[in-house]
Amino acid sequence: MNNWIARDECTIWHPFTPLRGMESPLMIERAEGVNLYTPEGKRIIDAISSWWVNIHGHGNSYLAEAIAEQAHKLEHVIFAGFTHEPAIKLAERLLEILPDNQAKIFFSDNGSTAVEVAIKMAFQYFYNQGVTKKRIIAIDGAYHGDTFGAMSVGERGPFTEPFDPYLFQVDFLDFPAGNNDQSVWENFERLVLSGDVAAFIYEPIAQGASGMRMYDQNLLDRMIDLAQKHEVICIADEVMTGFGRTGELFAADLLNTNPDIICLSKGLTGGALAMGVTSCTQKIQDAYQSNDLMKTFFHGHSFTGNPMTCAVANASLDLLLTDECTANRERINQRHLEFKKQIENHQLVRNPRVLGTIIAFELNTERDTSYFNEARHHLYPYFIEKGVLLRPLGNVIYLIPPYVISDEELGYIYQTILNFLEEYNSLILNKKL
Ligand SMILES: *Cc1c(COP(=O)(O)O)cnc(C)c1O
Repeated sequence: MNNWIARDECTIWHPFTPLRGMESPLMIERAEGVNLYTPEGKRIIDAISSWWVNIHGHGNSYLAEAIAEQAHKLEHVIFAGFTHEPAIKLAERLLEILPDNQAKIFFSDNGSTAVEVAIKMAFQYFYNQGVTKKRIIAIDGAYHGDTFGAMSVGERGPFTEPFDPYLFQVDFLDFPAGNNDQSVWENFERLVLSGDVAAFIYEPIAQGASGMRMYDQNLLDRMIDLAQKHEVICIADEVMTGFGRTGELFAADLLNTNPDIICLSKGLTGGALAMGVTSCTQKIQDAYQSNDLMKTFFHGHSFTGNPMTCAVANASLDLLLTDECTANRERINQRHLEFKKQIENHQLVRNPRVLGTIIAFELNTERDTSYFNEARHHLYPYFIEKGVLLRPLGNVIYLIPPYVISDEELGYIYQTILNFLEEYNSLILNKKL
């Protein structure tokens, strides 16, 4: 009965994974720090924080104890009509570190639900005031999650194609890549001035899933400023950028403007348990302050505000707010910048970029139509074999490591990437791909 992989394949449908033609999944038995271990004892460095969620390392005993302690006291209670200390503390602490204008915390279960809540909150904000505004603006390449509302405001492509007829209409701006910023601005201005726009949703400064693409923060500031002057609700999806990823606690800290609504998840619990948070300003919640039952925000999930999850989020904040964690993020940023210099002029490297603890670059696939076409399928097993978990997005190789990663571990990953670039460079030369 120990043929785990066969048993997995019989029973489990994995996320983002074709049911045929894929390598078998890897068993992981335990993890410590940045290292994942298979039952055979193979070590794999988690260079992408297990889908960007882990910030303090795996098997963190401070987080584990927070969960265990809370589990013995109160594991869960319905969150309508009831409340508890871990949730109240977490809400207070989040409001303390979020931009000053944020006033209320709504709990849900993951990044997608945090986005759903944000969109519904914005639409009903207008509904409650008897205002009809139908349009919503998003940015090309956006990823906001896999539920229907979140899919609607995200990039339409092969992943969403089966559902396209069921997604609501959204005005997509071109991605502001620098050379087109002026036309993006003009398009945005035209839409906002139409008076029919309810909300603008965006991943601030860096888009994650589209390939860690970064754009001008001054442009974003101007957009938010214009939107707010015209009663367009600005929804910052900080699910990826939140909790120190950009170096600062939130991407909002790098901007001069403050959003009306913020979506959080991923790093919120240090990556230990699933939770989403949507925060909003006083102005948003004022539209719900009424004795009219119809103005209630009728949304909630069974596990809203789960006490164990709140407890581990509080513990994660304890760690996040230490000087040590700040220093670690600065250190990773420095190492990334040094590595960027090292690869900048490599002929296989295009557009290397660093934001806080994130580094990304594109593999130059122009000279090769046969091999690198499916770059990801070749890159992923190459790095796993070398003991590094990287999950390239198309031809974008990126690192988004837990903040506890050591210089030595980072050095090993950088060196593995350098080796890869050399090996494939010579492969291209020899085979004249
Ligand atoms: C991952 C992600 C989401 C979706 O979060 P899930 O927890 O996977 O549902 C939403 N927005 C952004 C920016 C993300 O990176």
